Parts: sequence; structure tokens; C-alpha cells
Amino acid sequence: MMPKGVEQSRKPVIAGNWKMHKLSADAVATALSLRSLVANANHCEVVIAPVFTALKTVADRLEGSNIHISAQDCAPEAKHGAHTGEVAADMLRDAGATYVIVGHSERRQHYSETDTFVQRKTRAAIAAGLTVIMCVGETLEQREAGNAEQVVKGQLEGGLRELTVTDLVRIIVAYEPVWAIGTGRTATPEQAQEMHAFIRRVFAEGHGQDAGNNLRILYGGSVKPDNIAGLMRQSDIDGALVGGASLDPEVFAQIVNYDR
Ligand code: PEP
Repeated sequence: MMPKGVEQSRKPVIAGNWKMHKLSADAVATALSLRSLVANANHCEVVIAPVFTALKTVADRLEGSNIHISAQDCAPEAKHGAHTGEVAADMLRDAGATYVIVGHSERRQHYSETDTFVQRKTRAAIAAGLTVIMCVGETLEQREAGNAEQVVKGQLEGGLRELTVTDLVRIIVAYEPVWAIGTGRTATPEQAQEMHAFIRRVFAEGHGQDAGNNLRILYGGSVKPDNIAGLMRQSDIDGALVGGASLDPEVFAQIVNYDR
């Protein structure tokens, strides 16, 4: 793989997934604090993913800033219609989002989302012009059984099925080992690097070497201010998807402004 710094096109992405937290006033206050704390962060793309209900308000208040807005999920259907409770990708775009997270392990585990479902959401999101942060990752059981790579490969291939080379430019992969999410137990930089290099290889095998070299792969799972720099020094780690530590603007800003 290309050593870090050689592959200039892979601008790091540090994304905060707020999950089901924050009423609108709190979301706006957090976003406005963050806005000044990361105003000079030109080394990476800063992304936050508020809940649907706060998305437009936060996006409006951050207009003109260097913070991008992501949704946490989208409907698999592109066409508007009778899908109670769903939000279409173009509606998210309309509300100010330019990114969307799909296939988060909480959705796979608690809402039975399959790779096919993730693939449909991905296609709908790309059609609406959103950049997709597609989450993949194995459970502890799968890792201990020696199946981590096979599981991640299956999720990747399933989620990316039928996408064109043009579509793939809009894909960011987030490797989030399920055993590291919200547990305080982060993968070591070496463990994460090993899987990231594998993901890049799988992507390159399926879609060509250039696509592989250009793919941004984020690590997610208990990322904190004290472990981000070590992760970011790995050649195939191009950023982070941060859950718990993204809720506090000071803490998230320390992650964004990691020691480079
Ligand atoms: C996540 O939910 O995507 C995540 C990585 O959570 P945490 O940082 O809290 O482990």
C-alpha cells in the first residue's frame, strides 16, 4: 500500500455520529461550539451526524463553516411514496446533509439490516448526490472464531454490489469492529491497520487499483483524544468515525485536531 503522504487524494475524514442524542437546542449549541474549535482544521473533512429532527436546524446554523452534515441513515427507496417512518436520501440532501452513514452495526444488530438492505440504501444515497459512509465490522465472536476478514469481505461485497466506478468515488468505508463500539475497548492501531489494508485490497480486487488507492477507510470504535494520533499514523487509516466522544464539542475537537 501507498505510504501515508504519498497518496495525496485521501483527505482524512473525522466524523462524529451523535446517534440518538440531543434535542435541537443542545444540538445547535454543540455545533456552534464545535464550529469555532475546528475552524482551522483544514487537514481533514469534519463531519457531524445529528438526529434527523435536528439535522436541518444544525445545517442552517453551520452554513459557511468547514463542518459537513451527515444523516445517520436513509431509506432504501429513492422514490417518494408510502414508506411510513422513512426519510429519503434526497430529503436529507434537502435538509442540508451531504453525507449519510449506512450499515452501522447498531442497525445491523438491532434492526436486522442485511447487506442487501445496506446496498439499496447506498444506491439511493448516491443517486441523491450524498457521500456514503458505509460501516462494516465483525463481532467479537466472529473475530475469535477467525472469521473477521471473511465477515468484513462479505459486508463490503454485499453493500457495494452493482455500483459503478463513478458511484465508488462517493463511498467511504468505516471499519468498526463491533466489540470496540461504545465499550472503551479500542482495536490497537496494528489490528486496525491490518483490517484496513485488507479492506483496501478487497476493494482494489473488486474495482481496480486506483479505486483501492483512493478509497478512504475510517476506523471506528472507542476513538478518543488519547488514541486518535496512533491510529492516524497507520498508512491505511484515513480518519475516524466517532460515537460517544463526539457528543462533547471540546473532546471531539481534540480528536479533529489530533497531533500530526
Ligand atoms: C460508533 O457508534 O460509530 C462508534 C464508533 O461509537 P464509539 O466511538 O462510542 O465506540
